[in-house]
Amino acid sequence: MHCEICDQDIGQTLVFLPIKRIDGKLNTSACLSCAEQSGYYCQEHQRPYIGFNDGTSACLRCIEKMVTEAPKDNAASLWRKLTKNLPAAELKKVIAAAQTSSDLTKDSLTTSLLRFLASKACRERVSLEKIISHLLERKDANLILDGISFYPKNN
Ligand SMILES: [Zn+2]
Ligand SMILES: [Zn+2]
Repeated sequence: MHCEICDQDIGQTLVFLPIKRIDGKLNTSACLSCAEQSGYYCQEHQRPYIGFNDGTSACLRCIEKMVTEAPKDNAASLWRKLTKNLPAAELKKVIAAAQTSSDLTKDSLTTSLLRFLASKACRERVSLEKIISHLLERKDANLILDGISFYPKNN
């Protein structure tokens, strides 16, 4: 097989990057060296980013890392801020999405909420705090809920 970036014959060692192709394909197959330079490969976790429905991408392990490292004692204050600042309908959307996610993962509602926030933060390449303040400013649940599902890895 050939790397779709540098066209070198690379045998079977391909990395699927979430870079859309002109022909409509959702992934680009690349050799490791092109992958590492593409901006779609996490050096820390040595794996390609995953593409999201809205065209963004992020490393799943970086998202999980952000969730795990979020200060636990801030969770209550985060919920308080959301409850105070978001219109009821938007808060309801966030809680419903977190509940659905918790049902699937068996994680707490707070962990699910943090995962939405961390996912958006990683996809936008900004900090968790920045996404939280965006959400409180824009008062729009879709800011963190849009494009949350991954598109299929191949085709
Ligand atoms: Zn290459
Ligand atoms: Zn990573």
